[in-house]
This record gives sequence, C-alpha cells and structure tokens, in this order.
Amino acid sequence: MHTFINGALAAAALTMGCALAAGPIAVADAGYRSDQMAELAEMSKRMVTDYLTQLGISGDALPTLAFIASGQRARSQCVDVSGDETQNDWSNDYCPTDNTVYVGQNILWDSYRQYGTAGSISGLAHEYGHFVQSVMGVPNPRNANETIRHENQADCFSGSFIGFLQDRGSINAPEDLGSVERFLTATASLDAPGRDHGTAQERIDSFTLGYTGGLPPCSQYFPATPLIR
Ligand SMILES: [Zn+2]
Repeated sequence: MHTFINGALAAAALTMGCALAAGPIAVADAGYRSDQMAELAEMSKRMVTDYLTQLGISGDALPTLAFIASGQRARSQCVDVSGDETQNDWSNDYCPTDNTVYVGQNILWDSYRQYGTAGSISGLAHEYGHFVQSVMGVPNPRNANETIRHENQADCFSGSFIGFLQDRGSINAPEDLGSVERFLTATASLDAPGRDHGTAQERIDSFTLGYTGGLPPCSQYFPATPLIR
C-alpha cells in the first residue's frame, strides 16, 4: 500500500541506490523497513525543499533536517515546557532558534507503519509549516487558543504541500489522501480543555484548505502576518 509511485519515489530510488529496472512502482511496493527511515526523511525533505524553493524560500534560509536514529539523542537550542533541550528518537519538532527540524526514527517508523507514506510525509511537512511561520513572522502563540490556530495553520501548510505534489503528479489519490486522513485523525487532540492541537475535524479542514487552495488561504489563521508576500 505504498502508493507514492511516480516522480518523487523514482527520485528517491536514485538517492537510495536502488535499481530502477523494475520501475518506480516496484520501489513503492517494496516499502520501507524500519532501518530506512533516514531515507524516508531525506525524500520528504527534498520534496518539501522543492516546494519551499517554488515559494521563494531557498539556500541558507532553509532549515536543517536532523534525523535522530533509534536510541540516539540530540541537543537542540529549544527547550520544552519542562526545560529539556534534548531531542530523541520520538521527536517531531521544529526549533526556530537553530532553524532545525528534528525527526526521530521511532516516530517516523511508527507513523509510516500505521498510516502510510503520505501521512508520515505530511507530518514532517507540518514541522516545515512551523518553519514557514517563523520565517514569515507569525507570532509565537501566547495562549491555548493561539496554539491551536498555530497548529492548524501548520496543517494548512502541509495540505498546500501535498497539493503541490498532487499538481506534480506525485500523489496517488485517494489512497494517499486516506493515509493523510488517518495520520491527522490519529494525531489530533480530543475536543477537551487544555488541548494543544486541532481536533480531527479541525486538522482535516485545515489540511483541506491548503490542499485545495494552496498556501494563500492558510494566511487567514494569522492575517496580520501572511505566509506569502
Ligand atoms: Zn505542530
């Protein structure tokens, strides 16, 4: 059920040194193993970088992608609520201070295994959405309401990115969209006090807004700081 079958995966296959004799479909069907999550992360990064370049963000402005292998740790320049600056194999974070997206092997494998390729790529793209917010000066959230809007906007960015892949013919709808929907639903917050992400419906609506309309409508979450200028 790995249906990211055309240009993107063909390019990834080259990176991974796979033989292309059987065509990209065979690569997709082969799927990834848990020890190939660095390749999945790298492929995602290249696709998001293509998108960011099209948006006019390139070169030194681009974030670093730090892949954290199983059992490893990395020190970021951001601290979490408990004052910890350590990133680990379950991290999925963007740190604006060191302009780095941290992704752990375990979380990527977990989401790939459960929700599929497109869902796990959309999750990484969400972190790049936080990068775009940072570059475009979207203010850091100061309360729970703003946090949820901030998260929904990152989902909207992720949707616009998947829409970009769709336009390039790199998405196999509806399978890949089903994968994204499973991912968003599973990682949503329940509609309860103290939640810090959108509900499943909010996350899917935010993703769909970007998927169908591109990045411009994603500015509506924080209109004073549009994501495209
Ligand atoms: Zn987020």
